[in-house]
Amino acid sequence: MGKRNFYDFSDFTNPIKAIELFEKAIQEGMDFNELPGPVFLAKVLTPPMPLNANQMSAILHTPAAAVGPGGLVGTGGATDSAQMVTVIFKGRIDQLHNFLPDPCDVAFSKNPRKVNRLRRKHTDFVATTAVSDMPIEGDIVKVQLKLGAHSWDLQYGQYLGMYEEQGAAWADDVDSPCHSAMSTFIKGIRKGVRSYSPPLAGKYLPDGRGIENGMLPGDILVTVDPKYTMGGGQLLKDVVEDYNNLAKAFVEANGYKLKLTQGYRPYEEQVGLARTKPDLAAKPGTSNHGWGLAADIQISGMLPADAAAGVTSAYETGVYKWLFVNAPKYNFENPSWAVEGASCTRCKEEPWHWEYTKKHDLIR
Ligand SMILES: [Zn+2]
Repeated sequence: MGKRNFYDFSDFTNPIKAIELFEKAIQEGMDFNELPGPVFLAKVLTPPMPLNANQMSAILHTPAAAVGPGGLVGTGGATDSAQMVTVIFKGRIDQLHNFLPDPCDVAFSKNPRKVNRLRRKHTDFVATTAVSDMPIEGDIVKVQLKLGAHSWDLQYGQYLGMYEEQGAAWADDVDSPCHSAMSTFIKGIRKGVRSYSPPLAGKYLPDGRGIENGMLPGDILVTVDPKYTMGGGQLLKDVVEDYNNLAKAFVEANGYKLKLTQGYRPYEEQVGLARTKPDLAAKPGTSNHGWGLAADIQISGMLPADAAAGVTSAYETGVYKWLFVNAPKYNFENPSWAVEGASCTRCKEEPWHWEYTKKHDLIR
């Protein structure tokens, strides 16, 4: 393999055209497993982030105007999975980066700062791709490097396409040091989930730490007290005492435990719910369940007295009526969008959904 198959990025004004040409070159006989470049296999180390026109111009030496907008992250709205975006990510080519430890090695999983430092030392790859084909951390992708003065330029390279979607398995493993909310988000797009956004970012006020909806660290979640609640589930640790007191009062007044069908709901589950029950679930990444601030409580079929009285509406049950009066004493409410007859655009009758009312003291 000689320079015959080498393309200089500066030859191209349009990154998409460049990729087509690269892929054609691969089909024409470059075997990237055997040949020493310019095409390599790389492991994706960081979530792809949108590239702004100035960065792109600096990296690809193309006029900014020739470059389409990136703009995947933070759009907050529906994402057209066929939309082309230009993004940048860090990648590792094992045979060229062997002077650096692999930051995704589980040995580093307790040391996120080290993982980040190591990732930053790897190569930046630029990808122009459909959102639905976006690589995520852990994927093995085809990339191309250009020659520097003496060897391959490890500063910047070009993404050519997917080789193996390893990242999906990683995203299921939240302990992987290379897992992130963004990879879950992109994984969701790959599965064809439309119109949802990456998890909302927030600040956990009690200690000032940055958190993401549905990605809460385990140390701020606490399981509700099974003495007063069936079903179980976790809530944000700061609201568990109020919740348990509410459940205790319910038991004392009614002689039965409350049944919690869901408290904290991880982002992955929110995405799953949006796929299977789109009209029931909030937009993934935005739900108060993802902050551990909402409790879904079984309303119907809980009290024998309801059955005896032939109650059919959940809002008429003993459980709902008792909670409606008493939950506010413990800083919980059935929010106005969820009450009987609620009829605003975003309203939905959800008698089972109870939220903590002092949310803004905890998360902003
Ligand atoms: Zn709910």
